[in-house]
Amino acid sequence: MLNFDELEKGFSEAEALAEAQRCLKCKDPRCVKGCPIENCIPQFIQAICDGDVVEAVRLINDRSNLAVICSRVCPHNDQCEGACVLSKKGKGIQISKLERYLADKEMELALTRVADKVAVIGSGPASLSVAAILAKEGYRVTMFEARPQPGGVLRYGIPEYRLPKVMVDKQIEIVRNLGVRIETGVVVGEDLTLDQLFAMGYKSVFIGTGTGLSRKLEVPGEDLPGVLQAIYFLETVELVREESLSVSHLPVKPGDRVVVVGAGNVAVDAARTALRFGAAEVQVVDIIAEHERRCSDKEYEEALHEGVRFSFENSVTQVHGEERMTGVSLQGFERQVSGRESRFVPLAGSERQIQCDKLIIAIGQKPFARIVSTTTGLKTNEQGYLITNDEPHYGMTTRPGVFAAGDVVHEPKTVILAMREGRKVAEAIDTYLRRSHL
Ligand code: SF4
Repeated sequence: MLNFDELEKGFSEAEALAEAQRCLKCKDPRCVKGCPIENCIPQFIQAICDGDVVEAVRLINDRSNLAVICSRVCPHNDQCEGACVLSKKGKGIQISKLERYLADKEMELALTRVADKVAVIGSGPASLSVAAILAKEGYRVTMFEARPQPGGVLRYGIPEYRLPKVMVDKQIEIVRNLGVRIETGVVVGEDLTLDQLFAMGYKSVFIGTGTGLSRKLEVPGEDLPGVLQAIYFLETVELVREESLSVSHLPVKPGDRVVVVGAGNVAVDAARTALRFGAAEVQVVDIIAEHERRCSDKEYEEALHEGVRFSFENSVTQVHGEERMTGVSLQGFERQVSGRESRFVPLAGSERQIQCDKLIIAIGQKPFARIVSTTTGLKTNEQGYLITNDEPHYGMTTRPGVFAAGDVVHEPKTVILAMREGRKVAEAIDTYLRRSHL
């Protein structure tokens, strides 16, 4: 019987390292000039010396997608190896065997990686971005969403007139078509803990749950019926729209006089939504000056045009009422600056009372504590945001294998920033999982 076994054996790890260490890492590498696709040979050899196989593979794959084949069948003597400066002395670097060592390693990793499961908690912009990228890389991704439908802040935080939900549905369909499974109505931290997810075989967990807990105004009467949080209001509107709740749950009724505290995008969204539900008047108050407002100019102009009134350098100091709220006290403030410090000082004689039916609070949010409180090893800062690190893996929390990005790690920012962070963290999760197989 003829023997067709592959003749040449590949390098062991020690042999690959020893060979890589012989390379001079030339400043003007002739090996690269000799390579028809100008592979970054000295760089991937350096990565082998550094013990970073994943980086070495990434460098090769930047230029080649057939490294397993090329390392075996290219005429290396006429190309990179023949051009190597050490070849003249008959001791040229065996570049093809180093390439083969990496390519075979990559193949092993790719085959074992297919089985890796990743859990993504939350389904807002950061989570959708992470899930899509990892699914494209071949991971089995399951997304867990607490609400009845996926989309997070895209569905339950941004009003329909700014982002039609049919567009959110289409975007989610694209992610599903990549193979991502989406389980809705699952509250991680209550129905399922992170430890249970790992026990179920998930190799890594991404937390992209955003900020669902509103900051309180801390004024007397804040707990009276009629006072509500802007994110609760916006979410309820969407739940009614999608018929998960009946219309009777809508907290703003036709004819209501509404005051909104805060002048960021969430406050303006709440004000404009209240108008759409027939509020008789809507006034937004914020302690900062008009030029300091945090909502976009476009949102501000449109809100003014629709009839929203703004009172800057004012704040609510008390909510009045007995059974339910009947009005609020407003107080004028001015900013006093001394050195680097600045503070708001009440203006004497500016206090007045106005009658209103609803007070919507939109002065910021912070993350829910339910995942952190049911998991060991996850640390948050004083404001409740998850602490993540750049090293050894971008976006990894204080618990190995658990990553986070988006509003759950910093003050709420824009959709595009959450998506950008999601991309960086997805790449870090990929690297983490690849290394876990070495
Ligand atoms: Fe290394 Fe040879 Fe390339 Fe120089 S020419 S970088 S020694 S492989």
